[in-house]
Amino acid sequence: MAETKKFICVACPVGCALTATVRGTEVLQLEGNICPRGVSYASDEMANPLRTFTSTVRVTGGVLPVCPVRSRTPLPLAKVFDVTREVAEASLSAPVTIGQVIIENVCGTGTDIVASRSLGVRSI
Ligand code: SF4
Repeated sequence: MAETKKFICVACPVGCALTATVRGTEVLQLEGNICPRGVSYASDEMANPLRTFTSTVRVTGGVLPVCPVRSRTPLPLAKVFDVTREVAEASLSAPVTIGQVIIENVCGTGTDIVASRSLGVRSI
């Protein structure tokens, strides 16, 4: 049985409001997209929704107490809570270098959690 799903396409900053007619994970019809990337986004959103994960990790001895981190590539939405728990338990020691791998293959997603910025050592 077909049903209607509504999404905001986040493939670019325009943020088109999409209305999809779907059956299971198949997109039968799509309205609201102003370019073909919206079709890909809606299909991915139904079959395997992905999100770029962002958070912070505690830092010992740094100029700031936490370092912003992100997933190197988008990871499955279904794994976000597991990833949140694993990242919450992580900690770092300064210095931190932008792009430094914080957690490799986080929760078996095939992507890494990496530092989003460099962080120097706190001077006494
Ligand atoms: S449908 Fe195209 S224009 Fe609209 S938000 Fe998605 S990528 Fe951007």
